Amino acid sequence: MAACLRARAGKRDAFKRGLARLCAADRLRVVGAILSFRRLILEKEIPIISFSFNMRLVSCLTVLIIFFAPLSTARVEEINATHARTIEVCVLIDKESPVKAEVISQAINSVSREYENHVRIRFKAHTFVPFKGNVGILPVDFSRFVKHVCAPSNEVRIVITNEAMEFPRPDGRIEELLAYADDYAGVIIMYNVEKQSRDRDQGGNPALETSLKHEIGHLFGLEHTTDLESFLHFTSNSSLGRWTIEVKRLIKENKWRRWL
Ligand SMILES: [Zn+2]
Repeated sequence: MAACLRARAGKRDAFKRGLARLCAADRLRVVGAILSFRRLILEKEIPIISFSFNMRLVSCLTVLIIFFAPLSTARVEEINATHARTIEVCVLIDKESPVKAEVISQAINSVSREYENHVRIRFKAHTFVPFKGNVGILPVDFSRFVKHVCAPSNEVRIVITNEAMEFPRPDGRIEELLAYADDYAGVIIMYNVEKQSRDRDQGGNPALETSLKHEIGHLFGLEHTTDLESFLHFTSNSSLGRWTIEVKRLIKENKWRRWL
């Protein structure tokens, strides 16, 4: 029942409207079940001798609520996991070091197919715009492109550049940063994109796609893992780039999260 209340409280998006409809149908089923039970009692097919009719009805209601409430919550959780979500993506192409749009389109389409197969989330490259900003200093100017460049319906923004980004490790070595994700703003920055598109991860998958899957995982709140099988390994291109049960579970849990 709590799930019904939650669903009724937010009718603005289609999924919640779907839930509200589901709950309305469930409520009708409860009423139907109560009436059937009442008929059985009145026809004395179920012998309840010492209660008044009202008391019997209250008892029936209590029993049905106890049995029905967890079922309804379970069904809502199941639908939450299986209902498809489509996320529009705004692609911002660095003017200083531009990437061919088809390189990132192909990667987004391929990653979208995987996300749809495993967790029922689709990504649609919706808007392509030039980005004139400093991709080398984080954070980039979110407010500028969020409010004035991308479409309001674009939930995720991916900045792409062919610029390589290097950063010094604590031990003094220089390491290349492949990408960065801001899970509050819903922004990903992909570096050295055309080179990544030619490389492979340890599982033989295109490194750009593994890298993008990894960053999208961060957008859904996932942390790094030491599991070399998972694309959420802290260096995605040294992983096998696979979907693990744990990654699927965590993304499904956060499937409906929103960003800035
Ligand atoms: Zn990471």
